[in-house]
Amino acid sequence: MQYNIYKLKQCVNSMNVVTRFPPSPTGDLHIGSARTALYNWLFARKYGGELVFRLEDTDRERSTEQAVEAIVEGMRWLGLDYDSGPYYQTDRFKRYKEVVDQLLDSGCAYRCYCDRERLDKLREEQTAAKIKPRYDGYCRDRHSDVQNESYVVRFRTPLNGTTKIDDKVHGLVTIENSELDDLIIMRSDGVPTYHLTVVVDDFDMNVTHIIRGDDHLNNTARQLHIIEALEAPRPVYAHIPMINGVDGKRLSKRDGATSVLSYRDEGILPHALLNYLVRLGWSQGDDEIFSIDQMIEQFNLDGINKSASAFDQEKLLWFNQHYIHEAPLEELAEHARPYFAKAGLHIKDEEKFRLVVGAQRTRVKTLVEIVEKSAPFYGPFLGHDESAAKKHLRGIVLEPLEDIRELLREQNPWTAAELHTLVETVASRSNMKLGKVAQPLRVAVTGVAASPGIDVTLFLIGREECLKRLDLALAYIKNRVQSA
Ligand code: GLU
Repeated sequence: MQYNIYKLKQCVNSMNVVTRFPPSPTGDLHIGSARTALYNWLFARKYGGELVFRLEDTDRERSTEQAVEAIVEGMRWLGLDYDSGPYYQTDRFKRYKEVVDQLLDSGCAYRCYCDRERLDKLREEQTAAKIKPRYDGYCRDRHSDVQNESYVVRFRTPLNGTTKIDDKVHGLVTIENSELDDLIIMRSDGVPTYHLTVVVDDFDMNVTHIIRGDDHLNNTARQLHIIEALEAPRPVYAHIPMINGVDGKRLSKRDGATSVLSYRDEGILPHALLNYLVRLGWSQGDDEIFSIDQMIEQFNLDGINKSASAFDQEKLLWFNQHYIHEAPLEELAEHARPYFAKAGLHIKDEEKFRLVVGAQRTRVKTLVEIVEKSAPFYGPFLGHDESAAKKHLRGIVLEPLEDIRELLREQNPWTAAELHTLVETVASRSNMKLGKVAQPLRVAVTGVAASPGIDVTLFLIGREECLKRLDLALAYIKNRVQSA
């Protein structure tokens, strides 16, 4: 692919960038996650760096292999490749345990023996007193002599002071440490929690830049404490604002499909979705259209918006329409091919297939629409649409259509240009405007009121089918005339 050339060029002054995409495999690849993946991918590609792909699957109940496959498939379809991984956190429990032991040894973490009953009671009391529920540090300096007593491991968060995050999007963010309690880093069953695994992984995988949703800003303060305790280097952070629906509320099913693969199924081109996503939360002047290479070249953290963006289906369709018009025909045809197969339309003639796609591309917004509109060129004739027939197949066109039928039978060569002349000749012979003949003819041979130019339409349907369908249309008209 083209951008690889770019990558090589940039390697010369690479600043050793490592980004990461670490989804939790609990569902399909969400539009928001895809945008996060894209920004990380662009940033890595821009600097000739690396993108790490990691599956944060420690929640074994909610993580599924099916979700992993859907995420991988979504990324593959979008063309977001990675340089390292996929890593599974469930493969790394030994390493997390090692770090937890290290934190316990250094006193940065402690065992907490509080049972559910105590924690529930604490929460109730705090709620009643209108205090934010949080752990009260009861076990911070308590030791248990009882063997086999169940415990969790908590991180010893500083009680005072502030944590400053120098965020590339939000600027300097200050969080009071007193706002944060001693979070659990390992549960009683030995399973490490997100805050610990994410820090250990980012450290072990040499991640230099963390670009993720700004719903993680508070988590970052917690994670920075663990980073400091491990004497690990601080990555650069860029917290990107959320994606909302048009109503300003967080994007949900209510706003239409939220999974990347459902946009694929609806006939969106990957480049259109990437272009839409790159602009959804990032800008470079007023530019809208970016090739993949331009995205790589121009993407920067400075251009990320500070406020949330609204997901707008119409805008996405606008991009899609643009790329359906503009993509090289060969490429568009390859994108369209699986949709034809899915709809049961069999492509036998490659040249015809390219012509069909070429003829439809200016008339549609999605690949699915190309297929829907191409049914008259493939497979069995489904009959004449009732309202189109009523409107266009009238007595007045009986003669010109009969005339056309005769000429089509003999027409040689069968080319769009010759067919055009043929229809023009009949129109002028009948003293009718071209459109007055072409439209009924269109309905007669396609069964519907809309198709590409009449010449291409006739050409693509072919002589035999044109004659058969015209016969049906002529019978319809005669019947209509007789019964009038
Ligand atoms: N697995 C986390 C998520 O999907 C990753 C958060 C992060 O980027 O640190 O939200």
